[in-house]
Amino acid sequence: MSNFHSFYKSYIDLQKKAFFNIETTHRCRLQCPFCQRQRKGGKEKVKLAGEFSYDSFRKVYDFTNCINFCGQISDPIYHTNFLKILEIKKNEYPNNRMYIKTNGSGKKLSWWEKAYDLSDKTTEWTFGLDGASQNTANIYRVGTDFDNVFKVMQLGVKKSLDIIWQFILFEHNEHELELAKKLSKNNGIVLNVIYSNRWPQEKEHLGLKKSSLQKEVPVQKYGLKWK
Ligand code: SF4
Repeated sequence: MSNFHSFYKSYIDLQKKAFFNIETTHRCRLQCPFCQRQRKGGKEKVKLAGEFSYDSFRKVYDFTNCINFCGQISDPIYHTNFLKILEIKKNEYPNNRMYIKTNGSGKKLSWWEKAYDLSDKTTEWTFGLDGASQNTANIYRVGTDFDNVFKVMQLGVKKSLDIIWQFILFEHNEHELELAKKLSKNNGIVLNVIYSNRWPQEKEHLGLKKSSLQKEVPVQKYGLKWK
């Protein structure tokens, strides 16, 4: 039994350092075709999960020091009051880490001013934008606003925050990779190139294809630290 207790204690100690993936809300304003929200009944199922409460947030941060707001089936910035979550983090858990993945659309720059002022070096913002122009980015991230999201990323850099541009390479956007590298370099943004592993059978008719660069361009970050 003492073996079990020491095993259990070491397991719990390890979990305290784990990366907790959390969805804050059930909302997202985009319509990415491969998202689980777009499956039959998907949005209704996600909605049943409700929203992440401030008490639950505190409970998780009382246990672990690292939360990843992953934004896989919803987007964290559409939580009823995501600024309050940032405020709790800043005031009560200043040393804990927070990773935020968002599509970045639909909020005013005044909202972003507040969000960034509640962020610091322990907070990392990642923006999903799969193209270097509105026309291309909107093919997969249906409903995105390239110019606005780009301004939001620039504002984050101006506020000395770590801003990451996550670019999923597809066949339809690979011609804009060089432009994305240039834009990110010129604006102090880290460009993170990745590939999608979501290819639902029922969506094949959409004609979205994997990038042919997959063998040549590894999953890679471009930016000052990753030159
Ligand atoms: S931005 Fe994320 S949550 Fe929203 S539709 Fe796209 S993949 Fe789904």
